[in-house]
Amino acid sequence: RLEIRNITRVFEGREVVSDVSLTVMPGQVTCLLGPSGCGKSTTLRIIAGVDMQDTGEIYVDGNLVCDTQFRVPPERRSIGLMFQDFALFPHLSVEDNVAFGIKGDKSNKRARVRELLEKVDLLRAIDKYPHELSGGEQQRIALARALAPRPSIMLMDEPFSGLDERLKDDIRDSTLDVLKAENTAVLLVTHEPHEAMRMADEIALMRDGKIVQQGAPYNIYNAPVDRQAAAFFSDIN
Ligand code: ATP
Ligand code: MG
Repeated sequence: RLEIRNITRVFEGREVVSDVSLTVMPGQVTCLLGPSGCGKSTTLRIIAGVDMQDTGEIYVDGNLVCDTQFRVPPERRSIGLMFQDFALFPHLSVEDNVAFGIKGDKSNKRARVRELLEKVDLLRAIDKYPHELSGGEQQRIALARALAPRPSIMLMDEPFSGLDERLKDDIRDSTLDVLKAENTAVLLVTHEPHEAMRMADEIALMRDGKIVQQGAPYNIYNAPVDRQAAAFFSDIN
């Protein structure tokens, strides 16, 4: 479970993230949805631990991972990351890519890698190298790699943006199936209303650093908080 409370981040005297609070339960997908520059990636970077907030606290499974004095390092937060350039390690096989973050002995690692490759339907690629795979296949391997250490939380920043338009919906759906099967709490960043409508259990609509509306996708779609929110949803495809 991810809880962020009253997170604010100031850059050059401007509040880029402004008093943001969110809770994401295991097995749930919350989409942080908003236009370019509204503060989505900054929020994710703070949760991941690669940037620091000016105010507020973050909890993972009830444990404090950072406030303004205390800070658990990124690799000990039980957080998986998937960003736009989901770059796999080019010199490692698919098996070694997915095994990379798993602790434990060889047979445990092997079993977990096989389990995940089965879930993303790419067991047949276990001995291949990234350059031998399509973009969509690489994306699925990156998902398996991010989930391999069993993180409680997955943070995803526009993870489908590099993919062929025609493949996106299929990959969104299969990604969702895997995340649900792993019971991960997911915070997904997107600027595409369609993606949020398709994937989210809850949408947090962000503008100028603030969450202006939060709720179930169809509630937000049917009752946008203001004219600007309505316009944002009107060009949905
Ligand atoms: P996009 O959809 O384009 O990725 P975003 O919502 O992820 O946008 P952020 O990357 O969080 O937006 O940036 C929010 C604002 O903060 C922008 O105006 C950006 O220029 C500014 N910003 C981000 N990082 C820094 C930094 N390190 N120093 C100064 N300003 C920054
Ligand atoms: Mg961004």
